[in-house]
Amino acid sequence: MIANETRTNLLDLDLADCEALVVDLGFKAFHGRNLFKWIHKHGVTDYDAMTDVPKRLREALRGTVDIYLPRIIADHPSEDGTTKWVMELADGQRIETVFIPEGKRSTICVSSQVGCALECAFCATARQGFNRNLSVAEIVGQVWHAARQLGTAPTNVVMMGMGEPLANFEAAVKAMDIMQDDLAYMLAKQRVTLSTSGIVPNIYRLREVSDVSLAVSLHAPNDELRDQLVPINRKYPLSELIPACKAYIANDKRRKVTWEYVMLDGVNDSIAHAKQLIRLLEGVPSKLNLIPFNPFAGNDFGTSTPERIEAFRVRLTRAGIFAMTRKTRGDEISAACGQLVGRVEDRTRRLGRIRVEDGRMEIPR
Ligand code: SAH
Repeated sequence: MIANETRTNLLDLDLADCEALVVDLGFKAFHGRNLFKWIHKHGVTDYDAMTDVPKRLREALRGTVDIYLPRIIADHPSEDGTTKWVMELADGQRIETVFIPEGKRSTICVSSQVGCALECAFCATARQGFNRNLSVAEIVGQVWHAARQLGTAPTNVVMMGMGEPLANFEAAVKAMDIMQDDLAYMLAKQRVTLSTSGIVPNIYRLREVSDVSLAVSLHAPNDELRDQLVPINRKYPLSELIPACKAYIANDKRRKVTWEYVMLDGVNDSIAHAKQLIRLLEGVPSKLNLIPFNPFAGNDFGTSTPERIEAFRVRLTRAGIFAMTRKTRGDEISAACGQLVGRVEDRTRRLGRIRVEDGRMEIPR
């Protein structure tokens, strides 16, 4: 498995691409289906083990394409069963993937970028800076590894690891298509969730090409606070974000938007905030995930007390908004929400761009 930038990586191809490749090489399309199935369904990357692929095609493939996957270089199991995998990419950058078992279910939390450029105030990934987008192969490769480790495909995938998936639109969409393919991981659309900080134009774009579940990192019920916590809000304020999310689920009455709301002590967790939130989400079929803030070194945020989180939750529930407090999993191995860091050579040099005035951080758009 040698990475070679000039050669196609088979893990970057969806079913149609695999068929086209095989036809280009002078063989029937169905061999492309078999090839795709060997790689994803059976986890086979050795051409010689692909017994129903003609020998001449195997040779042609060997001569033209590579099969290259991220490499698991560390495996951190946690006491609650959560496991964090550190994966190294061909260029030496590292990403993290988290496996969360829950009875019969198993969720894989997948990264979409090396680092993140979005600078959310309370997120450890943001501190790493940003290097690059992941390729389709690097995104799907995380699921490939999970399926090999588990002996079966995971039941759920959440695009909630490092990075902003809607800032890596094409690769994220193609990777999610492969996850849903019956010849690959067979995940139903409800079981693949894309989480975004709110890149509004790409929420509309996503609606055109995909029907995965949508989760949005809300974290604040008004623009003033959200501008501070999730700076992309300065570009796409709530008055644009909420209608985009509503539009995303509009053609299916059973669908809901999942809102993620990190509970920051004394910042966004009062009953007044809950009331604003109720007003904001009026008329939007919603599910709210309250996430206790997961601390990491180098910031002043604190976690809301369980009592405060419960009071907030009850207030929302009484208003008819389905709200759940997310169990914190894997925090002692730094695998919980917002704690994934990998190894990122920052290319944005953002510290030079952030202005600090009167003790407040000004993050340029
Ligand atoms: N960029 C996408 C995907 C990341 S999802 C997005 O923003 O949605 C990861 C989730 O964990 C997001 O909802 C994020 O806001 C949340 N999160 C980040 N830092 C956190 C922290 N320290 N504690 C709890 N949740 C956090």
